[in-house]
Amino acid sequence: MSDSAAHLSITELQRDYRSGKRTPVEALTDVIEAIEKKDPGVGAYLSLESGIALRDAENADVTLPLGGIPIAVKDLINVKGQDCSCASKFLQSAYTSTYDATVISRLRKAGAIPLGRTNMDEFAMGSSTENSGIKLARNPWDADRIPGGSSGGSAIAVANDTAIAALGSDTGGSIRQPASFCGSVGLKPTYGRVSRFGLVAFASSLDQIGPMTKTSEDAALLLSIMSGSDPLDSTSLSDAVPDYLNELNGEIKGLRIGLPVEYFTHGIDPGVRQCVEDAVSHLEKLGAEVIEVSLPHTEYAIATYYIIATAEASANLARFDGVRYGNRAPDPNDIIDHYRRTRAAGFGDEVKRRIILGTYVLSSGYNDAYYVRAQKVRTLIRQDFTAAFEQADVLVSPTAPTPAFKIGEKSGDPLQMYLADIFTIAANLAGICGASTPCGLVESDSGTQLPVGLQVLGPPLGEGTVLKVTDAFEKTTNWHRRPC
Ligand code: GLN
Repeated sequence: MSDSAAHLSITELQRDYRSGKRTPVEALTDVIEAIEKKDPGVGAYLSLESGIALRDAENADVTLPLGGIPIAVKDLINVKGQDCSCASKFLQSAYTSTYDATVISRLRKAGAIPLGRTNMDEFAMGSSTENSGIKLARNPWDADRIPGGSSGGSAIAVANDTAIAALGSDTGGSIRQPASFCGSVGLKPTYGRVSRFGLVAFASSLDQIGPMTKTSEDAALLLSIMSGSDPLDSTSLSDAVPDYLNELNGEIKGLRIGLPVEYFTHGIDPGVRQCVEDAVSHLEKLGAEVIEVSLPHTEYAIATYYIIATAEASANLARFDGVRYGNRAPDPNDIIDHYRRTRAAGFGDEVKRRIILGTYVLSSGYNDAYYVRAQKVRTLIRQDFTAAFEQADVLVSPTAPTPAFKIGEKSGDPLQMYLADIFTIAANLAGICGASTPCGLVESDSGTQLPVGLQVLGPPLGEGTVLKVTDAFEKTTNWHRRPC
C-alpha cells in the first residue's frame, strides 16, 4: 500500500503532523487524489472545495486539537460559501450557505478543514441513498449494492479511504445504518448534545448531527469538540462536555450489557446474527456481564416514527416554496400555480410521499388518531429504555437486520425500506445515544464480503460509556480497519 495519508484516522494523521512526517498540505493532496481516483466508482461526494481547503491547509496550526484535519460534510449542514443542496433538485446549484452551522464553526475553531459535500438521500429521507436527487451512490464493498442511508456518502468516503472523517445526521438511523453497511464507525449523540443550528431540518425532535469515522477514538475526539450548549439551538443541552477520549480506558469489566429480547426474535439475516452473537461473546470475554432486557413497545416504533417524522417534515419543508430558496418553475400563471409546479418539479417521490403523509396525520379529524396517539406511544417507547437502562449500562443489537441490500431491491416498496430501520429508529424516538462499529463480514450470494455493524445504545448522555465499549471492541478485534 502506498504511503497516502488518505487511509489514516484522525489520531494517526495528528501523530504524523506532530512528528513532522507529513504536512497538512501533503495530507490533503493525498485525500484529494484518492477522491479523484476512487470516487467516480461510488459517488460519495457531490462537490469538493479543494482550492479553499488547500489554502486552509497551508495556514493550518497543527497544535490545535484538529489542526489541518480535512472533514467531509453531509450535504445538509451549512458551511459558509459552499453550496448546500440536501441532494435535492430543489436546491441544486441554487443555494449557497451564508453562514456556518454551529458544528462547523466549532470544528473550524479547532483547526478542521471542511473539504467537500457528501451524497445522501434527498433531505435525509431514506435508508439507501437511492433517494439522492443528484446521483447514485454505491457500496464500496460491492458496487451492485447500496451504501445505506441517508448519510451514505459520508459512510462510503470514510470506509473507502477518501475521507479522514465525516459528519452525518441521524433522524432514525442515518448515521448508524450506513456506517454498518459500509464498515465505518458512526455515532448518533443524545438528542440535544450537539447543536442543530445550521442543519437543514427533517424532523426537528429527532435529528442529531454526529461523527462518522474510522475509529471510536476519532468519534470521541470529534464529539468533544462538536458538543455543548448553543444559544442558537434552544434544544441543545447545557450539561458539561466531558473529554470523551479520556473515557476510552478499555475497562469494561463488570459493565452490564443488555440484549433486548424483542430485537433478537426473527427477521435477522443468519450471517448478521452470527456476527453479533460472536461480538457479544467477545465482550463477555473482555469482562462484561450479559443480561436480557425487554423493550416491550418495539413493535410500534416504526409506525410511530413514520407518523412523527413525516408530520415534522411536512411542516419543515413548507419553507421550500421557490420564493425564498432554490429553483423555481418558470412562468407561473399565479401564486398557486407557482407553488404547485415548483414543488412538483423540485421534490423527489419519497419527499412528496412524506409531505403528503405528514400533512394527513396532522389534518383536522385525523390529528388525534395519528399524531397525538403517536406522541403517547413515543412516551411508552422512551419509558421502555428508561427501565432497560436501570438494569443494563448499554444495550447491544445488530445495527440493521441484514447487510447492504442490492440497488433497486427495496426502492419500489417503501414499507420494506422502512423496515430496514427497525433497530435504529427507537433510539431517536427516545432521544438516547448509540453507535455502530464493524463486527464482522458476511459473504453475499455474489461472493462479495459485506460488513456487519454492532449497535451499542446508551442512556441519555451515555456517549462516554458507548464509546468505551465500541473502542474496547475495536482494539481487540480490528474489524473496523478491514480494507474494502
Ligand atoms: N431511514 C430513515 C428515514 O427514512 C431515517 C433517516 C434518517 O435518519 N435521516 O426516515
